[in-house]
Amino acid sequence: MNNRFIKGAVFAAAMAFLLTAAACGTTVPASGEAVQPTTEMKASGGAVTSASGTTADTSSAEETTTVTGVEVGEKRVSGLTLSYTTADIIVGQTLKYPLVSEDVPEIWTSSDESVATVDSVGNITGKGEGTCTVKVVSETDSSLGAEVKVTVRKNEGTQKIDGITYVDGILVANKSYALPESYAPGGLTSETYDAFQQLANDAAADGLSMSVISGYRSYDYQSELYNNYVSQYGQAAADRFSARPGYSEHQTGLAIDVNCADDSFTGTPEAEWLAAHCNDYGFILRYPKGKEDVTGYQYESWHIRYVGKDVAKKIREAADAAGDPDLTLEEYLHIDSYYH
Ligand SMILES: [Zn+2]
Repeated sequence: MNNRFIKGAVFAAAMAFLLTAAACGTTVPASGEAVQPTTEMKASGGAVTSASGTTADTSSAEETTTVTGVEVGEKRVSGLTLSYTTADIIVGQTLKYPLVSEDVPEIWTSSDESVATVDSVGNITGKGEGTCTVKVVSETDSSLGAEVKVTVRKNEGTQKIDGITYVDGILVANKSYALPESYAPGGLTSETYDAFQQLANDAAADGLSMSVISGYRSYDYQSELYNNYVSQYGQAAADRFSARPGYSEHQTGLAIDVNCADDSFTGTPEAEWLAAHCNDYGFILRYPKGKEDVTGYQYESWHIRYVGKDVAKKIREAADAAGDPDLTLEEYLHIDSYYH
């Protein structure tokens, strides 16, 4: 969500400043907003562990692994190399087949079809809670094979805890799901802060400068910000780039605007690095291009949301499976985002 250095009475002066400010794609000092972690976080990484604890340790491997190989003379036959060898899916979800390295006729089987089924090309569908193994062997040489360890979880559905909405264990704040006015972590959660520090350090090693231009925003501050935008641009326009109080992801302490919260950030090396790498640190680009109908917000190259590394990885896998690199949190969770 859009934000600059605007605060209450200094709004007019700040706007005048902004009109003369240079594009801020590279080095921008952090704003005066609180970005310190607090020790009183109710949410950790925006995720809650389910009662059954099924969210732990089931993340998928992203590296390619050769599971089975055979020696033929001096030449090592690599067998079948899969693009992933573990999968963590929910009941009803279909994961696109793990790309196989060799173009050989394959036979796919599941060790337990009540947990997951697999079709003739390797697409895996979650059927029931549990774990099983999906195997692939070469039709012509059954000694060539590989396997995927599959964990299937139930979608935890939507829970409301202290007025905060969690969908499948993930804290959600969008136009459909508001936060209570009283929810005030007071700063970025410590996990979010630490993850961003690591991201910024690694970006610095690549010669890029990343800083928090806007992190946590309180309900009252968002209210001020939004009302200022409404008086300046009208409500319809303001709703496309600024959240109404209670609906801002910045109130969660999990969202960060990087460097420059406007279009001048788009296309900068920092923006490209952020889009390519933020996922590795547990962040997602929250409002991708062309998804305004889904997220409720215009493209924001600078706004990232911390979901934790495990969830970020799952979202990336779901994006790969869907063939849509810009899969949004709304699409991942099958939820909407509009003012009801
Ligand atoms: Zn933002």
